[in-house]
Amino acid sequence: MAMNRIPFQAGLSLPSFLEQYGTEEQCEAALESVRWHQSFCCPACGEVGHYVLKGKTHKTFQCKGCRLQTSLIAGTLFHSTHLALPRWFLAIYLVRQAKTGLSALALKRQLGVSYPTAGLIQQKLMQAISERDTFYTLHGNVQVDDAYLGGERVGGKAGRGSENKIPFVAAVSLNTEGHPMYLKMAPVSGFTRKAIGEWAVQNLSPDCVVISDGLSCFTHVLDAGCQHQAIIAGGCKPKELPEFRWINTLLGNLKTSLSGSYHALLNTVHAI
Ligand SMILES: [Zn+2]
Repeated sequence: MAMNRIPFQAGLSLPSFLEQYGTEEQCEAALESVRWHQSFCCPACGEVGHYVLKGKTHKTFQCKGCRLQTSLIAGTLFHSTHLALPRWFLAIYLVRQAKTGLSALALKRQLGVSYPTAGLIQQKLMQAISERDTFYTLHGNVQVDDAYLGGERVGGKAGRGSENKIPFVAAVSLNTEGHPMYLKMAPVSGFTRKAIGEWAVQNLSPDCVVISDGLSCFTHVLDAGCQHQAIIAGGCKPKELPEFRWINTLLGNLKTSLSGSYHALLNTVHAI
């Protein structure tokens, strides 16, 4: 059996990460570079000349032109935080590295912060990831599948009919070698032609060639100008077909991740 090379991809080790982002100054420099590239630029008047104010919780710039004071963290993910930037950067690293998900409790222990603080960090990171995700659409060959997300309520119905389950569409784009590149998971009002058409317009580029199972609503990816190919399972389950290998793998990863992040949720994802 061929070795799966994906888990062996080069990454950033924890010692290397701490060498690069272990101090407040290193994190400030990284954030400053992302915000202003070359040098500070006043958001009010565009002046680049500035003073750096001392004694503030976080690095603050004062414009030499209009004297406006701008905190390095203002308007960023770290806006108004009193937590040191290395803790935030470490949180991003830990969440990014945790393929099996990271609960707020685990984050609390690893960062050495309170549980509410860990929960807030986790919430903000998830929100930032979600907002960034909306900027992108998928391109090229795309595998899609319909799934439900959510746990069962005590005394409620089990399975697909559960009142607590949210329908969502999972889609992954593949490169020319057939390797997964980008994943999108989005809730939909239901698996109707209208809902899938709207989802496709928001999430797919017109150059997509979409592969789905035989669920008829997926033909409405044509609304986004995409091509569509339905794979009829013919006696076996769609998840057993090689055409759906990556979307099934990623739905499996999502289930593992949710179980790792939210221990109270059981039976969280049900691919159909
Ligand atoms: Zn200014």
